[in-house]
Amino acid sequence: MTNIALSQRARTALPGGVSHELRYRAPHPIYITRASGAEKWDVEGRRYVDFKMGSASQMLGHSHPAIVEAVQRQAERGIFSADCHEAELEWAEWVNRLFPCAERTRFTASGTEATMLALRLARAWSGKERVLRIDGHFHGWHDHALKGSKPGSDAAPSLGIPGCVNDLIDICAAEPQAMARALQDDRIGTVIIEASGANYGCVPLETDRLRALHDVARAAGVVLVFDEIITGFRWSPGGRQTRDDLTPDLTTLAKVVTGGLPGGAVCGRADIMDLMNNATQRDGLAPAVSHKGTFNGSPLIAAAACAAMPLLASGEAQAQADSMAQRMRDGMNTAFAQAGVPGLAYGDSSIFHVSFGHSTLNGLTPAQIRGLPSAQVTAYRDGMLAEGIDMMAYTSGLTSAAHTPELVDEALDAFRRTLARMIR
Ligand code: PLP
Repeated sequence: MTNIALSQRARTALPGGVSHELRYRAPHPIYITRASGAEKWDVEGRRYVDFKMGSASQMLGHSHPAIVEAVQRQAERGIFSADCHEAELEWAEWVNRLFPCAERTRFTASGTEATMLALRLARAWSGKERVLRIDGHFHGWHDHALKGSKPGSDAAPSLGIPGCVNDLIDICAAEPQAMARALQDDRIGTVIIEASGANYGCVPLETDRLRALHDVARAAGVVLVFDEIITGFRWSPGGRQTRDDLTPDLTTLAKVVTGGLPGGAVCGRADIMDLMNNATQRDGLAPAVSHKGTFNGSPLIAAAACAAMPLLASGEAQAQADSMAQRMRDGMNTAFAQAGVPGLAYGDSSIFHVSFGHSTLNGLTPAQIRGLPSAQVTAYRDGMLAEGIDMMAYTSGLTSAAHTPELVDEALDAFRRTLARMIR
């Protein structure tokens, strides 16, 4: 079986041949059969060093033995009965211990569902329908999340989203003055911020600026939501809020919180979260905020999460991943210097980005930072893939606890060769 043959078959079975629009790849995607640690193999037997890591979900490396064992053990005991069970409780207690804002946690079936629920809770708590979000930040694909996720554009983000929904979403720059100006509109009751900065921190959000945005939101009295779906358990065991000592009202989590299985969570202040408590009433509704979802907090996912939590709580996994990302950024910057071309590798924690044509981001607007010519981005990603190195969409890459100096150095050799081809 070949990648081409599978992609031809896929085109008639799946729209675009894929299950997620960012997996679309010309001339065809690769079809993965096996992944272990920081490596994976395609149907043709080709090996890749992985810097996508399940779209940032596999923080401990692919198929970590503790997670595999926990899932196997739970699968034998029963995959799913839609009942309460002890592991969901233990899992929630881990989240509540690790995240400063978390007095209660509710599990969802994805990150998108987590931001959808957080916005519903925030609107219910504030009694205000308008939401302020930051230009270019990504919060999943539901109707209330897409407008503004493309930097520099407040155009309708997709067909099929009611205009009246888009009309409730305001967008501001990631600047305190811009946020303060926007919040003069007292119909806004919620602010949501992607804690890494736009798209995995491709457009960085430095701590001072995040702090200033936090302070502006606090002064306005709105419900402040940190989307920590990337940063949660990655930037520190307690996410960015722990690392930078900034506490929002609500936090959304996914990817790593589940031990790398499907799912997500919202955690936050008890008084807001308890709007979902069946024992409370508001406007004659009990619970005041409705939240359902067949697979929320399922035992299989909870088993994986509870196996991952002790491994994530010590901070060792994050330290290893961070140092490998730093090695990658340093090596890429050396490669740019040696090639004599302007370029920059940058990023925070275990994430790296490359910018071609700029040696600094100073003075660039978010749209300019995100606005690399698509031909350049494609040449970079395809060039690396041909060398056996798989990167995230656009210019992001991530490391995990399973990345080693040898694997990073292999990727850096590939980067030097790819760069040489790009500037030829
Ligand atoms: N929020 C952020 C910051 C994300 O990066 C993502 C996914 O990449 C989401 C929300 C949506 O999560 P999911 O893909 O699990 O629906």
